[in-house]
Amino acid sequence: MHNDCDILIIGAGMTGLTAAAELADNGCRVVVLDKGRGLGGRLATRRMGEASFDHGAQFVTVRTPRFARKMQAWSQAAAAREWCRGFAGVNDGHVRWRGEPGMTGIPKLMAASLDVRLEQQVVALRTEAGWWKVETKTGEIHRSRAVLQTAPVPQALAMLDAGDGVIEAGLRARLETIAYESCLVVMALLDQPSRVPAPGGLQLTEGPIVWLADNQQKGISIQPAVTIHASPEYSLTNWDRDRNETARELLNAAAPWLGGEVKQFQVHGWRYSRPLTVDECGCVPLSLDPPLLLAGDAFAAPRVEGAALSGWAAAAEFARLGFGTPQ
Ligand SMILES: Cc1cc2nc3c(=O)[nH]c(=O)nc-3n(C[C@H](O)[C@H](O)[C@H](O)COP(=O)(O)OP(=O)(O)OC[C@H]3O[C@@H](n4cnc5c(N)ncnc54)[C@H](O)[C@@H]3O)c2cc1C
Repeated sequence: MHNDCDILIIGAGMTGLTAAAELADNGCRVVVLDKGRGLGGRLATRRMGEASFDHGAQFVTVRTPRFARKMQAWSQAAAAREWCRGFAGVNDGHVRWRGEPGMTGIPKLMAASLDVRLEQQVVALRTEAGWWKVETKTGEIHRSRAVLQTAPVPQALAMLDAGDGVIEAGLRARLETIAYESCLVVMALLDQPSRVPAPGGLQLTEGPIVWLADNQQKGISIQPAVTIHASPEYSLTNWDRDRNETARELLNAAAPWLGGEVKQFQVHGWRYSRPLTVDECGCVPLSLDPPLLLAGDAFAAPRVEGAALSGWAAAAEFARLGFGTPQ
C-alpha cells in the first residue's frame, strides 16, 4: 500500500465517510484512517455471544431533503430500516431509522467502495514542502495534499499540538469553547425478554439513566439484550470509578425494566458523546497551505444527520479549494 493521496481523512465515522464518498465521486484520491477496530465511530454495534447491542447512536432522524435521499438509498440497499415513529406508546409521526443488521450496517455500506484503514491511530500532523505528513502510533507516515480532521474537537487539537500545526489564537479560543457530554453505557444480556415497553426504547427524565433500549424488540438481536445509557451528569461524576461497580449500580437502577437475570454485561464509556455547543459553520479551515479542515457533528448538529451535513460541507470546501470536480 502506498501512502500518498490527495486528501487524508482522520475518522471513519459519519462525517469522515460522508466526505470521503463525496470527494471520491469528485475524482479525488482519498484515504480514511481510523484508530478503531471497527468502522462507524459513534455509530457502533457490539456482539456478546449471539446477542447484538447498538451502544452509541440509537436511531437516526431525518430533517433535510439531502439526508432523506441518503437514507432512502441505504434503506434500498438493506443497510437501514424504519424502527418506529415514537416511544412509550406515543406516535409523533417522526421516523426513527436504525441500521441493518445494527447501526454499523450504515457505515459498513458507505465504506465498501472507499480506502478505509482501521487500527491506524493518528498521533501527529506535520507539514513538509506543501504536503501534510500524518504520523500513526505504529510509526507509519501518510502524505497527502490536504487533511480532513473529523475526530472530536479536543482530540483533533491534541493531534495538531503533537505536530507542528499552529492555530491562530482567536480560532483556537473559539474551538476550545466546544464542550461534549460524556456517556457511560452498560450492555446487559438477559435470560428472558426485558420489560422495556414496545417498540423497545424508553427515555427517562429522572435518576442516573436517560435511555434504555431493548435490542431484541428493535430487531437487531436474537437474544434479550438491553442497552443502558447513563445521564451526562452521572457519567461525568462516575467517569473514573471502577466500571464494574458503576455497571452494577446502573443495572440496579434499571431493574424494573430488565425482568429476569443479567447473564453477562459489558461497559463502554463515550468520553465525547455529543457536543453541548454547536458552531454551525459546517466545517472550519485550520490551515490553507496545505489545507486542513476540521469537521464533525460539532459544526452542524449534535446527531448523525449533523455529522453527514458537516461531511458534505467539508467536501464542498475542498472542491472550492480546487480538489476534484463536483459531479
Ligand atoms: C451514546 C450516544 C448516543 C447517541 N444517540 C444518538 C441518536 O440516537 N441519534 C443521533 O442522531 N445521534 C446520536 N448520537 C450522536 C451521533 O452518534 C454523532 O453525532 C455522530 O455519530 C458523530 O459522527 P462523527 O463522524 O462526527 O464522529 P465519530 O463517529 O466520533 O467519528 C470520529 C472518528 O474519529 C476516530 N478517531 C478519533 N481520534 C482518532 C485518531 N487519533 N486517529 C484515527 N482516528 C481517530 C474515531 O475512532 C471515530 O471513529 C449519539 C452518540 C452517543 C455517543
